[in-house]
Amino acid sequence: MKYISTRGQAPALSFEDAVLTGLASDGGLYVPETLPKFDSATIASWAGLSYQDLALEIIKPFIDGALTDSELSAIIEKSYSNFRHPAIAPLVQIDRNEWVLELFQGPTLAFKDFALQFLGNLLDHILAKRNQKVAVMGATSGDTGSAAIVGCAQCENIDIFILHPHGRVSEVQRRQMTSVLAPNVHNIALKGNFDDCQNMVKASFSDQSFLPDGRQLVAVNSINWARIMAQIVYYFYAALALGAPHRPVSFSVPTGNFGDIFAGYLASKMGLPVEQLIIATNANDILHRCISDNDHSKKPLIHSLSPSMDIMVSSNFERLLFDLYGRDGDAISTLMQEFSSGSMTLSESALAKARELFCSHRLADEDMVRVIAEVFDKTGYLLDPHTAIGVEAARVKRKNQETPVVCLATAHPAKFPDAVKRAGQAKDPALPAHMADLFELEERYVVLENAINAVQQYVAGHLSN
Ligand SMILES: *Cc1c(COP(=O)(O)O)cnc(C)c1O
Repeated sequence: MKYISTRGQAPALSFEDAVLTGLASDGGLYVPETLPKFDSATIASWAGLSYQDLALEIIKPFIDGALTDSELSAIIEKSYSNFRHPAIAPLVQIDRNEWVLELFQGPTLAFKDFALQFLGNLLDHILAKRNQKVAVMGATSGDTGSAAIVGCAQCENIDIFILHPHGRVSEVQRRQMTSVLAPNVHNIALKGNFDDCQNMVKASFSDQSFLPDGRQLVAVNSINWARIMAQIVYYFYAALALGAPHRPVSFSVPTGNFGDIFAGYLASKMGLPVEQLIIATNANDILHRCISDNDHSKKPLIHSLSPSMDIMVSSNFERLLFDLYGRDGDAISTLMQEFSSGSMTLSESALAKARELFCSHRLADEDMVRVIAEVFDKTGYLLDPHTAIGVEAARVKRKNQETPVVCLATAHPAKFPDAVKRAGQAKDPALPAHMADLFELEERYVVLENAINAVQQYVAGHLSN
């Protein structure tokens, strides 16, 4: 299967090259040229499969022979072997026909483990076959960095460099990154803010001449196709458990970069009966304004109690736009050109198409903490702040009480003790037992000046042979 750019000007790539490439040369994002489709009988035959076996069925057609079934199966097994729940993604009922899909059973307690465990193992396999080594470089303000580090720590062909703003990430988040002492893991605390970190990474990707010959950078942020692909699996898994394909299911998804919910959109295109996809945003509401008022304009970033959704522009939205505009790369190119001024307007037909499946809701901090408190009072179940936004969005937006709604629980509440305290819980939510010693573990990281030379010298000087 070939992968093509949403802006139509970059060469089509094989699956492996798309995974290694990140952003296309024309500035677009890679998507599969055609989507696999499953009929109802095939989907029905998957009821009761383990998460890993289902993942094999769903991922196989996307890689189209790049790996054998047994290679792919080994990668999947390895990727989910350190999840703490045998169901991998367990469902918990919190009200009538209302469910929470716990996507935080992985090693770093957020849904990003689903994709990054898989991506690390997949990259390592591809690189070993090609006898190649790469450097992963990324900036993080929170969950992505730790998930990427844990996902790559065992990989022999990857050196990983993660920049975080010095003194500006929570202690839990910092320790989750810096307590991984594998020799190929390098945490850089930059004397700057998150934007500075991101600018360092961007500049390094656009001019990689500081690296020795034969070494390249690989992006593991959510524009990497393999991450989206791995996330499609849990939409099928949850829906099958709730009676699909014989009845439809709706999903409510706490949304930042639009990667997670885009995987839900793909699941529906591939044949899963999905009634509604509910985009749940915090005060950083560009997608909510776009879907409800056709106002896709940048606004200053607001720091909320759901920090993993604090983003100004959702990069994966472009992948949806590509479909909404009939897969016309020139149209997307023009649209993104318009957006470089800070704002764009969708065509009436594109917006109407989006609204057939998507709706949206925004929740500010004070309402979000009320939801955590309410759900805890009624059920004893503690939501994390991101998930709480999804639960409220589902309650406001679902149009059919007979259709089960699944709220994606994107993080464990112990990752965000501030919000939980604001919701009136007297003490910090406990870290799961396997992480109870997090505050005693040794840490390793380097503090660097906010200067591109310092960062690039450090990276070039710490590559393995
Ligand atoms: C990354 C993240 C999100 C947002 O997911 P996107 O794919 O960027 O939309 C939501 N919640 C948590 C906890 C996250 O870590």
